[in-house]
Amino acid sequence: PTQYKNKKIVVLGLARSGVSVAKLFHQLGAVVTVNDRKSREQSPEADELEALGIEVICGHHPDDLVQEDTALLVKNPGIPYSAPPIERAKQLKIEIITEVEVAYWISEAPIIGITGSNGKTTTTTLIGELLSAAKLQPVVGGNIGLPLCEIALEVTKEQWIVAELSSFQLKGTVAFAPKIALILNLAETHLDYHGDMQDYIQSKAKILENQTEDDIAVLNWDDPVTKALISSCKGRSFPFSIYDTLEQGVYIDPPFAPIQAGDPLPNAAEEASIRSIVYRMSSDDEPQRLMPLERLGIPGRHNAANAIAAIAACLVAGAEPSALVEPLEQFRGVEHRLEYVRQLEGVSYYNDSKATNATATTMTIRSLSAPIVLIAGGLDRGSDYMELLPILRDRLKGLVAIGETRKKLASVAELAGLEAVQIVEPKASAEETLDEAVKLAAKLADKGDIVLLSPACASWDMFSSYEQRGSMFKKSVHTL
Ligand code: ADP
Repeated sequence: PTQYKNKKIVVLGLARSGVSVAKLFHQLGAVVTVNDRKSREQSPEADELEALGIEVICGHHPDDLVQEDTALLVKNPGIPYSAPPIERAKQLKIEIITEVEVAYWISEAPIIGITGSNGKTTTTTLIGELLSAAKLQPVVGGNIGLPLCEIALEVTKEQWIVAELSSFQLKGTVAFAPKIALILNLAETHLDYHGDMQDYIQSKAKILENQTEDDIAVLNWDDPVTKALISSCKGRSFPFSIYDTLEQGVYIDPPFAPIQAGDPLPNAAEEASIRSIVYRMSSDDEPQRLMPLERLGIPGRHNAANAIAAIAACLVAGAEPSALVEPLEQFRGVEHRLEYVRQLEGVSYYNDSKATNATATTMTIRSLSAPIVLIAGGLDRGSDYMELLPILRDRLKGLVAIGETRKKLASVAELAGLEAVQIVEPKASAEETLDEAVKLAAKLADKGDIVLLSPACASWDMFSSYEQRGSMFKKSVHTL
C-alpha cells in the first residue's frame, strides 16, 4: 500500500471498515476522500476522520468523486456495483477493491478465511475458541466483529487472523490469499445481489484463486459445488464430510445416511449418540478418533458439519488435537443461532433469528428432536418456500406466519397438511406483531414442545436487522 503515497484514494461507505481503511491510507500519505450517501447526521464517524484532515462527503455521491487521477476505490461490501461512482471507476479502469484486500496487503499474520452460505459465524467463532485453547493466538473478525484492517495492523507474525468473509467482501479482492481457505457450503442465497448463482459461486471461489502450493483448502466434500472446486485448488486439500469416510480430512464415523425426499426425518439426538468425530492427517496415517459426536456442544447435522470444518482448519493450522476436545464440548453457539431463551410451562423457547433462508431453517429444525411450533416469515425475495415442505409436514406441530411472506408460508403449510397455522397480519409496530405471534405460538404449544423463531427470511420488511428481530423476540418471550 505504500505505493499510494500522495495518490488519490476514494473510500466509498463510512462504516467502521471504511473508517479504518481511510485512516490507514491517510497515515501512508495518500489523499483520501470518504463518501457516503447517508446524511451527515447519520454518520457520526465523520468527525473523527475530519479531525485527522481526511475529506468526508456525506448525503450524496458527487459526480466528480472519482476522477481520472483517482488511483484506487475501496468500496464497502454492501454497496452494489451499479452505484454511480463505481460505474465511473469501472469506465476509467480504476482498481475497485474491498477492505479485505487492503488487510491482506498489510497483514503479517497468516489468515484463515471462512466463507459459505450458512454457518460462517458459528464456524468462525468456533475456530477462534479452538485456536485459543490450542494456544495459537487467534484474532477473529471480518464480516463479524472487528474490521480486518484494524486487526491486520495489530497482529504479529506468530498469530492467526480468523476472518469470516462474505461473498460481497470476496468479490472485491484481487491478490487476497488466505493460508487456509474454508468453504462451508454454497446454497442458493443472496441471488438478488449477485444476479445469478454463477456469479455467487465465483465470488466465493475467489477465496481459492490466489492460493499457492503452500496453502490449504478446507472444502465440504458433501456439497457438489464445493467438491467440484477441489479441482481448482492450487495448494493442499484437507476436506470434511458427514456422509463419507475420507483418506484425509475430518469426518463423522459411521457416516450419516443422506436424507432422501419423502423419508421420515431422523431423530437428531439418537443419530448423534452412535457416532464419532474422526480425523486423518494424511492417507499414510491411521484415522484417529477425536471425540464422540454427542459430546459436541452444538446440536444437529449442520453443526456437526460446522464443527468438523472448524476442526479441519485448526488441525492444518497446527493445533494439538487433544486441546480441541474441551472447547468443542463447551461451545454453545452464537447469539440468535438456535439460542435458548427460556422455559415456561414446560415449553422451551429458542431464538434462531439468524436463519434468513429456507435452508438454514430446515437445518435448525432437523437438529431438534421435540415437536415444534415455528414462527417464520419476513422479507419476500421471491422464493416459493417449497423447500420447507418436508419439515412442515414431518416436524411441525404449528406455524405462526409473520411478515411479507406470511401468506406464502401458510400455503406451503397447507400443502404439507399442517392444521395449526396462524397468520399474523401486521400490527402498528413490529413489536406488537411479534408479541402477538409469540402469544399465538405459546397457545399452540404443549408441555415438552419447542417454540422456535427461525424465520427462513431476511428481517428488513419489519426490522432493521436480524439482531433486532431476535432481541425483540426474546423480549416478547420474557414478557409472556
Ligand atoms: P452465517 O454466518 O453463514 O449466516 P451462522 O453461523 O450465523 O451462519 O448460522 C446462521 C443459521 O444458518 C443458523 O441459525 C442455522 O440455522 C443455519 N446453519 C448454520 N450452519 C449451517 C450449515 N452448515 N448448513 C446449513 N445451515 C446452517
